[in-house]
Amino acid sequence: METYPIPMVPGPVQVPEEILQAYQKNYGAPGLEEEFLALYHDTEQHLQQILGTQNRVVIQTGEGMLALWTALRSCLSPGDRVLSIATGVFGYGIAGMAESIGAEVNTIGLEYDETLADLSAVADAVESFRPKMITVVHCETPSGTLNPLEGLGRLKHDAGVPLLYADVVSSAGGVPVAVDAWHVDLALGGSQKCLSAPPCMAFLSVSDRAWSEIARTGYVGYDALAPFRNLEAAGRFPYTPYWHGMSALNTAAKRLTAPGLEESFRRHAEAAEHCRKEMAGMGLALFPAPEAVPSPTVTAAWVPEPIGWTEFDARLRRRGLVVGGSHGKLARRVFRIGHMGSQADMDLLGKALSILAEVGGSAAA
Ligand SMILES: *Cc1c(COP(=O)(O)O)cnc(C)c1O
Repeated sequence: METYPIPMVPGPVQVPEEILQAYQKNYGAPGLEEEFLALYHDTEQHLQQILGTQNRVVIQTGEGMLALWTALRSCLSPGDRVLSIATGVFGYGIAGMAESIGAEVNTIGLEYDETLADLSAVADAVESFRPKMITVVHCETPSGTLNPLEGLGRLKHDAGVPLLYADVVSSAGGVPVAVDAWHVDLALGGSQKCLSAPPCMAFLSVSDRAWSEIARTGYVGYDALAPFRNLEAAGRFPYTPYWHGMSALNTAAKRLTAPGLEESFRRHAEAAEHCRKEMAGMGLALFPAPEAVPSPTVTAAWVPEPIGWTEFDARLRRRGLVVGGSHGKLARRVFRIGHMGSQADMDLLGKALSILAEVGGSAAA
């Protein structure tokens, strides 16, 4: 299926016409034109609003994973200690990534259906392990959960941990993110989730402390952050930037900030609440544990056992609905409705839910 009649995959999401239009131009050479630098900084400003920060936001060509790797590679040297909080596929994945570049990693792992609540284990680990960086995921997309970050940020700040790394790829824009208030040094985002642009741009906020660590590691590479620190002074980007992608991201960010971010948060909360209520009502079992915080951007539920994932997915697709499966140990067992960005839309969601009731409801009941 090349295009989806009823797209409900939790990223990449359906790209609205206005954002597609932002590509439709024969742009000049971005390295030569002042207009590109102005577009870059304008996009940065809107992303700062979405992330709740005054910190610089670096924008790269790529998608979300690029920002995740970029922040680790530029800020860590082999042997640096990293405390990874893992409540799902991405949290455990980030711990593995940090390990692969030589960091000494200590993981505080919860079950995939849980979210961060009691911080005493983190506080103990911070005290005994003295990490340089704490890593955490805000929305664990494969689980449909949202880890509260405020308390963790306070703990990190009070304990004097140098860096807090937070994956906000599937929360930014759909859920309040407060990078400065939560003391996040590196907040990582991508274009294809709540922003609803194609999967072509990655972005990350970088605190002053993070910039000093970047200077200290001296990391050099295609994904290095250092060249982005003084773009004006250097007068050039480290590689040819992607004008079309930046234009799409700029339009996408403004679509969220122009009506006020509260409007987007309200739309996501409403869609999520309706989705959870309807799915539970049709006898589908939601995946997150009852005490966990469900994400306003994505709902995860168990695949109805009598049908199984392959047949379930095929039946939904025959009716035009495409949902997400899941990853890791949740693959084939859990499916997800991505009501994020352009898909946090009550009409679209209503269509998806009626197909779901037709296919899954009876089998689950
Ligand atoms: C989507 C996503 C990413 C980035 O993955 P992509 O390969 O860009 O899709 C990273 N973290 C989380 C939590 C995500 O949902």
